[in-house]
Amino acid sequence: MRLKTYGTRGSTPVSRAETRCYGGNTTCIRIMSNCLPRDSALVIDAGTGLVPASLDLFNEGVQHLVLLMTHYHHDHTQGLPLARHTFEKSVPIDMYGPHEHGIGPMEMLRTLMSAPFFPVDFSRVASHFNCHDLEAIGRHLLMVHPQRGARLLRVDEYEQILTQTARIPSAEQVLQDESLVVHMHKTVHPEYTVSYRFEERTSGKVAVVLTDHENTVNLPKDLRMHIDGANLLIQDAQYTRAQYQTTTSGFGHATGEYAARVMKECNVGRLGLTHHDPMSDDSIVNSIVDEARSWLIANGAPELADHVFACADYQEIEV
Ligand SMILES: [Zn+2]
Ligand SMILES: [Zn+2]
Repeated sequence: MRLKTYGTRGSTPVSRAETRCYGGNTTCIRIMSNCLPRDSALVIDAGTGLVPASLDLFNEGVQHLVLLMTHYHHDHTQGLPLARHTFEKSVPIDMYGPHEHGIGPMEMLRTLMSAPFFPVDFSRVASHFNCHDLEAIGRHLLMVHPQRGARLLRVDEYEQILTQTARIPSAEQVLQDESLVVHMHKTVHPEYTVSYRFEERTSGKVAVVLTDHENTVNLPKDLRMHIDGANLLIQDAQYTRAQYQTTTSGFGHATGEYAARVMKECNVGRLGLTHHDPMSDDSIVNSIVDEARSWLIANGAPELADHVFACADYQEIEV
């Protein structure tokens, strides 16, 4: 399993010399796995990074796009109106996202692509979008199989598949063993926001994307279980400790030190920091990495310090 981070900036895109190292596209991450159907692509979030991602997918001849939305803040949706695949009606897009207060993926798209915000109304491109509401995050998971594609399952249905003990594996167990299983968990953020955990059953590799998540005093047990044992954790670390202590507490984002604590408590292999603040030059992003590493060294996990890095736009990461 590999990830490609097409957008690693939070809040708003930036472009200036001082942000050249990490880049300025907002959140968009592609998940690449042998468990995905041939000619299909799996992408988390549709920030401005979706625009170049969509170009790559088009050049690769991708015929089906699965888009998982964490939530609908602008920095996670603004690539949609201008991504090539939005207008590529021959390529179906299955979009999954939280549904709260009457707003799910379909309602978000109708608003995003409507006057006076955008000149092309969503109704003109809606025919190849299939929207799926995630109304009960934590009660469902997504199973993606190379031949069967993606389907939503209830967690209790999935647990039944896992606990079947017949000598000959059931058809469902075989499918599960060949799948990419995507678990979901709610983050701590002003809107209903989803963290996705990707379990590649064929390799045993696990990657978790936890963005738009604020520092918590204690790490809730269920969130710890959601992250536990991940080979790779991509986590929001928008702020320095000083910024968080003086002005940004309550904004829904985390610090490098908190991400380091999550890494240690959840037995994570590697930690990639993301959702860089638009005001952060590359040097500030580097200082957030230093804060995370220093926390690990000071808190009995120096061996993890070398496994912390800041994600950059267009970076490919082996899980
Ligand atoms: Zn964001
Ligand atoms: Zn947000």
